[in-house]
Amino acid sequence: MSDLPDGVERREFDGVERLATRGEPVYGEPTDGEWRAWNPDRSKLGAMLELGMDTGVDGGETVLYLGAAAGTTASHVADFAGPTYGVEFAARPVRDLLDAAEPRGNLFPLLKDARKPETYAHVVEPVDVIVQDVATRGQAKVATANETFLREDGRLLIAIKARSEDVTRDPEDVFADVLDELESTYEVLETERLTPHHDDHLGVVATPR
Ligand code: SAM
Repeated sequence: MSDLPDGVERREFDGVERLATRGEPVYGEPTDGEWRAWNPDRSKLGAMLELGMDTGVDGGETVLYLGAAAGTTASHVADFAGPTYGVEFAARPVRDLLDAAEPRGNLFPLLKDARKPETYAHVVEPVDVIVQDVATRGQAKVATANETFLREDGRLLIAIKARSEDVTRDPEDVFADVLDELESTYEVLETERLTPHHDDHLGVVATPR
């Protein structure tokens, strides 16, 4: 099993060992003192860590998070990372994202479209890590468009949702096509299906070419 980033630990909550970060609770998760459980069934990145994928993340990195939604996962990331830019294009979840960011001085919500990185290029600095969970068609395009922000030795941690690309096709065929497209810009280091936490999702760790 690979190392967890500093600031992410396995701790017991009600007798069950779970991933946890230190920070204000966001989505009704169990807490123990300063620690709060990170539910891998509600977080693709949580599932990637739970399944032992080697993310190459040590903790303290600068992060660009694409598809931040209400901040379930982005808040855990901000608990162990450095500056964390959370891009989300739907106004409704951004209201909750703002609440999650309130006690986190390093979480910066951006109401922006991840397909248009030029609209936030003036705000986002070069980052060590891109986390992507956008669940829309064209997931490889989004990752490719945002590669410009990623440092040379940085990591892309992406959860590819097969059904967002094409509900009718075999997920394995969809993953093969998305990986093929990703590989024009990124070198893929590791892939793993996120079952049993998320059906028809592939977790991918990649680095810029
Ligand atoms: N990552 C979140 C978490 O774990 O808490 C859940 C993300 S949800 C599966 C996918 C999100 O991506 C939705 O909130 C959706 O509005 C957002 N999204 C989809 N396409 C987007 C785009 N082009 N730009 C920004 N956000 C997008």
